[in-house]
Amino acid sequence: MTSAKRSSPAAATKTNFDAIIIGAGFSGMYMLHSLRDKLDLNATVFEAGDGVGGTWYWNRYPGARCDSDSYVYCYTFDKNLLQEWNWSERYPEQDEILRYLEHCAERFDLKPDIQFGKRVVEATFDDQTQLWTVRTDKGDVATARFVITAVGALSTANIPQFKGFNSFKGKCYHTSQWPHDGVDFTAKRVGVIGTGATAVQAIPEIAQQAKHLTVFQRTPAFCVPARNGNVDPEVTKARKADYDGIRQRIKDSFFGFELNFMPKSVLETTPEEREQEFDRMWDTGGFSFWLANYQDMFFSKEANDVIADYLKRKIRSTVNDPVVAGKLTPTNYPYGTKRQPLDTNYFETFNKKNVELVDANTDGAIEEITPNGIRAGSKEYPLDIIVVATGFDALTGPVKQLGIKGRGGRVLAEEWAEGPQTYLGVAVAGYPNLFMITGPQSPSVLSNMPVSIEQHVEWISECIAHMRRSKLAAIEATSQAQEAWGAHVAEVVNATLMTGANSWYMGANIEGKVRRFLPYLGPEGVGGYRRKCAEVAEKGYEGFVFTAHDQTARPIAA
Ligand code: NAP
Repeated sequence: MTSAKRSSPAAATKTNFDAIIIGAGFSGMYMLHSLRDKLDLNATVFEAGDGVGGTWYWNRYPGARCDSDSYVYCYTFDKNLLQEWNWSERYPEQDEILRYLEHCAERFDLKPDIQFGKRVVEATFDDQTQLWTVRTDKGDVATARFVITAVGALSTANIPQFKGFNSFKGKCYHTSQWPHDGVDFTAKRVGVIGTGATAVQAIPEIAQQAKHLTVFQRTPAFCVPARNGNVDPEVTKARKADYDGIRQRIKDSFFGFELNFMPKSVLETTPEEREQEFDRMWDTGGFSFWLANYQDMFFSKEANDVIADYLKRKIRSTVNDPVVAGKLTPTNYPYGTKRQPLDTNYFETFNKKNVELVDANTDGAIEEITPNGIRAGSKEYPLDIIVVATGFDALTGPVKQLGIKGRGGRVLAEEWAEGPQTYLGVAVAGYPNLFMITGPQSPSVLSNMPVSIEQHVEWISECIAHMRRSKLAAIEATSQAQEAWGAHVAEVVNATLMTGANSWYMGANIEGKVRRFLPYLGPEGVGGYRRKCAEVAEKGYEGFVFTAHDQTARPIAA
């Protein structure tokens, strides 16, 4: 932590930097702290929002809260911070996480080096100077040796272009672009489009306020109870005393949690034995059912069906109307291959008299938005407010929209038209000195995000420190290493059931997006991926080439 508050001239008045970081969420904030305070580099952050927080700045819909246990959904790089911050619940609400990130921004004095309200619209690499020129929508033009994208994986909203969208006379909100002063649903007829993790959190909350709620479902979700609540102070105390151990365990784990698959096939168990295990995970709540289930869940359809059957029975026993229960029951994809939504009274909400389900398969898909509501299956549903909970153009969307141009004017968005091409999900051949934090083809969204963020930030920082020590101007992934990585990402996932769902992991939620698995499901999870990245560095950054400083290249300042 810096001891004195910075009085450096506002970052906005400088135009040349060692590093430009794009985004001030969990990743951009730690990246700034690492480069500026640990390496003493001249770094700035461009942030589109008017405050820090990224995801937690934008996603303010009712019910928005973290799906990861708070004791691991936080920075772990600072031991004092771990001791001084106290979470109020198992899964904190959006405003509490935002307060935490605000606290971190103050604690590490980050704000003087963050330029708020500025969206990066172009980043161009100059082959001669080996510098990047970055432009924002506010007219800023800045140069830097390094550009680091810290834009999150789920930050580009997917707003389907329904026929007649603009004709709607009521109010319409995408969940990730929620008004800061909230939305009053009292006495309103509300429609929610979507039933993913966001909608599963929002629907029970909206149903409590609205006069009538109509949920437009395209694909039903397998939900597991979150079981939010206060954490026993003794448990918190024990965790605080064991943070070194926790940090090590989540770093070495498969998904960045203290969760591991059961080393057993569900098919080898008796019905009684597995029912007991399922009950235990169901009662524990959270991601246990998804990420600490029997080890063949993601590999064998037969095993997956046994596990899915338990969740289907739970839906039938919770929802009173068997017809509605049937509509809410997933049938066309294996359990766990879409992101697990955690719920608090989601299925119970469909027992309320003011809640109606319109299922695309049985009642008819959305045909158009009319001035008065939504038409689906030839019927018009009158509405005052539409909540668009249709998710994101995941992983590639946020990077593609930055206007990145690499060596020789190559355009990243065009080169990724058929899907992302990266090395380790952190670098791209043809784009020297460009790093992506939790980019496509890295574990990112298949892990507890802060764990993967810290790993990438620390790896990138060490790489830049190495370049400074060795007087190197540029680092670039080779196309051979990139191709091999892409093939490896595909090979690993093709051995699982993950490709069998129309999920956003596959890019299948966006019309026209190429169907390609976007994150990296390493055979040994985030622990194995971390070891792979470390090994690359130990071998002199295997798969990368460096350019030494020449007279034209500006050295990395200390
Ligand atoms: P999502 O999982 O992509 O869900 C979007 C929903 O909208 C799906 O039900 C989808 O149906 C539906 N949809 C999309 N386009 C549609 C169209 N044209 N017509 C009708 N329906 C359409 O998005 P999300 O719920 O915002 O969640 C995205 C991710 O954000 C999550 O998976 C999770 O990783 C993250 N998240 C995290 C938290 C947390 O930890 N606190 C909370 C919420 C979300 P299909 O299934 O048929 O595509």
